[in-house]
Amino acid sequence: MIAEKVADHFKNIRRKVEAGQRLDFEDGLVLYDPRVPLQELGELANHVREQKHGNVAYYNINTHLNPTNVCIYRCRFCAFRSDLRDPKGYTMSDEQVLARGAEAFENGCTEMHIVGGLHHKQPYEWYRGMLEQLTAAYPTIHLKAWTPVEVGWFEFLTKMSVREVLDDLRQAGLGSMPGGGAEIFHSEVRDQICEHKADSHKWFEVHREAHRLGLRSNCTMLYGHLEEAFHRVDHLLRLRELQDETGGFQTFIPLAFHPENTELANLKKPTALADLRNLAVARLMLDNISHIKAYWIMLGIETAQVALHYGADDIDGTVRHELIYHDAGATTPEFLTVQRMRDLIAETGREPVERDTLYRHIHRDPSDYRKWTVGAPTATVGT
Ligand code: SF4
Repeated sequence: MIAEKVADHFKNIRRKVEAGQRLDFEDGLVLYDPRVPLQELGELANHVREQKHGNVAYYNINTHLNPTNVCIYRCRFCAFRSDLRDPKGYTMSDEQVLARGAEAFENGCTEMHIVGGLHHKQPYEWYRGMLEQLTAAYPTIHLKAWTPVEVGWFEFLTKMSVREVLDDLRQAGLGSMPGGGAEIFHSEVRDQICEHKADSHKWFEVHREAHRLGLRSNCTMLYGHLEEAFHRVDHLLRLRELQDETGGFQTFIPLAFHPENTELANLKKPTALADLRNLAVARLMLDNISHIKAYWIMLGIETAQVALHYGADDIDGTVRHELIYHDAGATTPEFLTVQRMRDLIAETGREPVERDTLYRHIHRDPSDYRKWTVGAPTATVGT
């Protein structure tokens, strides 16, 4: 009887999606119900994905920069952080940061993704300065940097408002913001996994201010630890609400929890089926966010490929120097060549399209791939 009710509710969801109607909290709970067959859920998410993006799948050429792993916080899901005196702890010098910029430039990267720990001995100027130096030396590389966790820390260090901090970082070269630090917004879970760092109120305040200043940002959700389905649905609806208000989110990235080397190492990593369900539910619930990303570093290459038929339209970048998930046991390669990235997408029947951080076409010089120009915005229908 209950199974029949779920099946009827799913039929109703299908009708709503096909009619372009928005799904509600109860719909979200049903989509997470394991009695809804994953394949049917995936087909519905794929229908929406193809309406928005046709057959293309996006990627970019990017690198990661994690300038320090020293962090005042001890989030229970984090394998990356270190204490100052721990042999694992590191803090990059200006020269090391600039060398990373040079490597990115040499490899034709259009983006640097910059996040890290909150180092109690480093002043705000150190964080700001690296944006300024990288922008001066490599002005064509877009700097996607700092989460609300860091911005909240900068607010504390400088006594400036969030808006003033963001404006100051923008003047130093900040191009957009990544989606990290969101984890799970609901306090029942957040208080158990990262009780000290920026709460959901701060997370939304920072993104709202960033959007008001004209910055675009991404958003994420860390799933597969202590949360239940209703926490995930609550999380998605809070993101959808801010997007209704500002329209500033570009991409949603569901992040699978990797337990290795964390305080929650007793938990099992989410399965590929759970990964695909999260991507598909996100595509269906977040009707106002253009892109859903299958982050291959975290999902593994094969799951990310399948995800391109379960709601995802973006597979992230070639990525160099990813540390956060590799510290937590990710076994994916540390980076992919451009050709490998294109081949992986093409193998799924999708058409690979290179984008920049702001979802504009990138045109490469065929005789030297390190040279590129920015083209028109990529087309998205229905957002
Ligand atoms: S997730 Fe970020 S804030 Fe939390 S401990 Fe790790 S580095 Fe620090």
